[in-house]
Amino acid sequence: MTLVSAYVAESAESPLTLGTIERREPGPHDVQIDIHWSGICHSDIHTARGEWGPAPYPLAVGHEIAGVVTAVGEKVSRHQVGDRVGVGCMVNSCRDCEACQAGFEQHCANGMVGTYGAEDHDGTITQGGYSGSIVVTEDFVLTIPGSLPFEETAPLLCAGITTYSPLKHWGAGPGKKVAVVGMGGLGHMAVKIAHAMGAEVTVLSQTLSKKEDGLRLGASDYRATSDESTFTDLRNQFDLILNTVSASVDLNAFLSMLRFDGALVNVGVPDQPLSIDTGTLFTNRRAMAGSMIGGIAETQEMLDFCAEHSITPEVEIIDASQVNEAWENVLASKVRYRYVIDISTLPEPAEV
Ligand code: NAP
Ligand code: ZN
Ligand code: ZN
Repeated sequence: MTLVSAYVAESAESPLTLGTIERREPGPHDVQIDIHWSGICHSDIHTARGEWGPAPYPLAVGHEIAGVVTAVGEKVSRHQVGDRVGVGCMVNSCRDCEACQAGFEQHCANGMVGTYGAEDHDGTITQGGYSGSIVVTEDFVLTIPGSLPFEETAPLLCAGITTYSPLKHWGAGPGKKVAVVGMGGLGHMAVKIAHAMGAEVTVLSQTLSKKEDGLRLGASDYRATSDESTFTDLRNQFDLILNTVSASVDLNAFLSMLRFDGALVNVGVPDQPLSIDTGTLFTNRRAMAGSMIGGIAETQEMLDFCAEHSITPEVEIIDASQVNEAWENVLASKVRYRYVIDISTLPEPAEV
């Protein structure tokens, strides 16, 4: 075991505090990674604050990890010491079930192992990326293309794949009208990716305060959901609506914006259930779906797509000590558009 410094939640109510966590020594199939950059996802906050149910404390969250390989087990063939690599929302799955075999490890029939707060196959509780290093089995380690600016790559590992996967699956592309609800971490990536896929993109945000940014990132229209006329103007317009909002919204208002055979795909995960009016749903043969991150092969495909199209998130780099302040800004929708922790600012474990 190696002791590693980390920002840790001790309970649902307490702020994150500097502490230490344990990492296993790399086994034959493991990759040991020195974490350089760690993105802040709203899911980190939902989880640490117990909004999705009880979490195992003490817990280091973080599942947008970019780092450099420092050691590999003897059976590892895909990664070498010195490689720039990423780790996203999963660190293990059975690899044997139908879903795993088909590349949908996130839907593993035997339960995928989340990067933090989950029980791994060795019985330990996983700890995430707000920490100095991590050890992950090689099948769950991604290669970060060399052309991408390293400090901007971490958020691709969750915000990137969570938006790329449904946009691709539901056919965002030339001739398709896509709306993105909420322009935060996920939402701004959805705008960039859908635009790169060739779709016509509209942002549906609470206000027009980020309109200039939305248009710069690739949207051709940007509307405020606080303005009633948005919903009447854009009725029956969209082929695909991606809802990235972290709080409860009126899904029926967004469903009514779907044209014939359009789909509303929910990726936001508020702590309360959302209700659907079946009459609004059957009009225009609308579909309502959800989508959870993406498989490992698709995550690599997304990283390569982003490299090819020079897509990276808009990031604000912060010191590790600023993490609680950053969480408050995420909760207040003040993030522009993803915080990334510079892990080199974490003290050494001996200093903690
Ligand atoms: P974020 O950066 O906080 O963005 C959420 C955006 O939602 C905000 O920027 C804001 O956009 C809008 N919003 C916030 N509160 C709202 C309210 N009360 N009413 C209406 N709109 C509101 O969060 P994120 O990291 O992108 O994550 C978004 C959600 O996706 C979270 O629930 C997260 O847990 C979930 N998530 C799901 C997956 C998955 O696999 N499905 C993966 C990662 C994250 P505007 O200011 O533009 O209105
Ligand atoms: Zn996430
Ligand atoms: Zn499986």
